[in-house]
Amino acid sequence: MSKQAEDIFNFAEFTDPCVKCGKCIPVCTIHNVNADEVTSPRGFLDLLGAYQSGKLELDKNAKDIFESCFLCTACVEVCPKSLPTDMVIEQVRSDIAKKYGIAWYKKAFFLLLRHRWLNDLAFKLGWVFQTCGFKIKADIDSMNSRFNFPMLKADRLLPSLMKKSFLNSYPEDINNGGKRKVAIFIGCLGNYNYKGVGEGLLEILEHLEIDAFLAKQQKCCSAPAYFTGDFDTVDNNAKFNIEYFESFSQDVEAIIVPEATCSAMLKIDYEHYFHDQPEWQERARVIKDKIFMATEWLQHHTHLEQLLASKKKDTKIVTYHDPCHAKKMQGIHEEPRNLISKNYNIVEMSDPNTCCGFGGVTMQSEKYHFAKAAGVPKAAMIKNTKADVVSAECSACRMQINNSMGNESTTIFKNPIELIAEALKEN
Ligand code: SF4
Ligand code: SF4
Repeated sequence: MSKQAEDIFNFAEFTDPCVKCGKCIPVCTIHNVNADEVTSPRGFLDLLGAYQSGKLELDKNAKDIFESCFLCTACVEVCPKSLPTDMVIEQVRSDIAKKYGIAWYKKAFFLLLRHRWLNDLAFKLGWVFQTCGFKIKADIDSMNSRFNFPMLKADRLLPSLMKKSFLNSYPEDINNGGKRKVAIFIGCLGNYNYKGVGEGLLEILEHLEIDAFLAKQQKCCSAPAYFTGDFDTVDNNAKFNIEYFESFSQDVEAIIVPEATCSAMLKIDYEHYFHDQPEWQERARVIKDKIFMATEWLQHHTHLEQLLASKKKDTKIVTYHDPCHAKKMQGIHEEPRNLISKNYNIVEMSDPNTCCGFGGVTMQSEKYHFAKAAGVPKAAMIKNTKADVVSAECSACRMQINNSMGNESTTIFKNPIELIAEALKEN
């Protein structure tokens, strides 16, 4: 199982340079909504150093502090020493989970993520009953609670559920000519909530005459569990997915993922997670060469850009938000813009790289006040562009941005894959 944080990283070594630096503080998502040195990257590192050297007990106050990081990696991106603050906090959260346990509702959620059949059943039941408790906004795949609960305020927009999941709606093998073939990893939000993403991807592959293998046995990448410190779920799902990918990886050119968080988890975090299991780390390393974000693979390995250039230009204005797990973790930011700009007018928001404030399960539940506050500046910069559509290749960003823009917004959210698929329908 996982090592303690001190086995990965010697925090004490970096405390001194941090004191004289502070370069990460202006970009830190939590510091921008809770301006306290303790909740800043260097504050976290200082406490982590004290924890490492046995001077800090993991008490409730420390738990509260370590759980307030958004894991957005904005600090890592600007740090002259590339200190992996996010990675070390992820490790410490595992110690916190061991000491304090995990809240029952998160445990129940992670249990669903371990078993696709259970997930399918729960979401199906959810679909049947969702109209009793929620008002559905079908045009944006979202819903508002009919009642006011502490974490479920009536003005809060959540993703609505589909009658049938994406993976259960199509055959496993889709033949589009048989010359080339890719596998699709869709992710949970794309599978159960924002089905248009997978459908758009299938339409694009059909236009490109590339066969699709819908990897139906895929389990959640386990990012929600990783960010919450539930390493048992990560171990279970990561090993299952790696073995499953290995079983078909020779038959496909790539495994494409239209989701930044899932893709970063599969490609980068699995390798970090397995730092003390060398055999699995090596297997994660081998399989990661096959995994690509969807726009990344489509831009660099197909003629999609030329095909789009032959299609009509749409009058819609699109602004693109950079998901932290795409730009900061994987360097993907030009690819979606290159593809979208062939058919839409892009107007950049003032800072597309600022984190949307999603932050993970804890941030969306116990610490929702931080997520809500972090979403305000992002919604304001989107509004200032007067864009018809805000786009990002990430359904977690979609959930957060939809909620931050609120019920009255006329700007709608689309994954770049959906925009591209719509453009291909035009002559
Ligand atoms: S940018 Fe890096 S070295 Fe500088 S304060 Fe932040 S974490 Fe420390
Ligand atoms: S990961 Fe984000 S929220 Fe956490 S310390 Fe770094 S910049 Fe701040």
